[in-house]
Amino acid sequence: MPEQKTILITGGAGFIGSNLAKKLLVQGHKVIVMDNFFTGSKKNLESFKNDNNFVLFEYDVINKLPDMKVDQIYHLACPASPPQYQKNPVETVRTNVSGSINALELAKKYQARILFSSTSEIYGDPKVHPQTEEYWGNVNPIGPRSCYDEGKRCAETLFFDYHREYGIDIRVIRIFNTFGPNMAGDDGRVVTNFIIQALENKLITIYGEGQQTRSFMYVDDLVEGMIKFMNTDGFVGPINIGNPQEITIKELAEEIIKQTGSSSKLVYKPLPENDPVRRKPDISLAKEKIDWQPQIDWQDGLKKTIAYWQDKLK
Ligand code: NAD
Ligand code: UDP
Repeated sequence: MPEQKTILITGGAGFIGSNLAKKLLVQGHKVIVMDNFFTGSKKNLESFKNDNNFVLFEYDVINKLPDMKVDQIYHLACPASPPQYQKNPVETVRTNVSGSINALELAKKYQARILFSSTSEIYGDPKVHPQTEEYWGNVNPIGPRSCYDEGKRCAETLFFDYHREYGIDIRVIRIFNTFGPNMAGDDGRVVTNFIIQALENKLITIYGEGQQTRSFMYVDDLVEGMIKFMNTDGFVGPINIGNPQEITIKELAEEIIKQTGSSSKLVYKPLPENDPVRRKPDISLAKEKIDWQPQIDWQDGLKKTIAYWQDKLK
């Protein structure tokens, strides 16, 4: 077993954070989840809430973090779904900017290693395909997605400035669309929307013509990559973590209808403003630097996620 560490996960009651917390507890670490439950849920923590190594802190990271000695910080706090982060855009910017400063200050005090969950959204509507880490992106600074995209870009800047100015031991990952158990059913992201619509035999809502692409990664692959990167010395990132299997949104809908045996039909709705047309990660750097690549095909990930929702909707 690896040496036991005390690990803080901000945003740990959300989709990714709760999957990560579960894995770190299995590895024998002490895990502190800090969350304001804006999009996260106590239900996501249910399976390990009585673990002696688990502590929950209800807290908003836009405030100076409580003093706690930690070895590692996974800084995830931030709503990730467009309808959620657009509900209160100023809060989204604050969470990314003030929240990151507060997390970095705690890392500075205890010389903790700190990993930031950045996003493929920092590439905006990319003009380079697939996206490599060198690409600086094509982001609208004043659109409805900007609170998230620019918030994350500024947070990356803060991480690299704290690294250069104070020698903070940072890790920056750029996560591409991820799905799996514990993603909130009502948070508006495409995989959960489609699965629930299909299981309830309702219309499947395609935005635009469904020809926009995304590359979907199953959450277990992401968690594996995050932990690997956190525990790799000598490379701070940024690094893309994603599944390069690129598909259209229409293909995703058709696969979900097939796997669920649903009688749902497709309905076409307006495409949200600034919705990126294509997205696919170049993961050469992840392969080279942390020896990571996804192991789970998107179709197999869908099977597991559909089974999860079948059980939940019983
Ligand atoms: P999520 O919305 O399920 O989880 C985010 C968590 O952060 C929630 O539990 C929420 O309550 C908490 N939170 C939000 N604002 C907070 C604040 N001010 N103080 C404390 N807690 C706060 O989203 P997720 O999919 O689990 O995403 C986790 C992280 O990964 C986010 O930073 C997101 O930007 C990043 N990310 C996710 C994806 C993806 O496909 N899921 C892709 C790229 C990046
Ligand atoms: N989308 C869709 N129907 C939905 C929800 C989303 O067609 O019910 C589209 C959305 O417009 C985008 C893609 O699916 O093109 C992925 O959306 P999501 O919100 O999951 O992630 P992001 O846009 O952040 O990549």
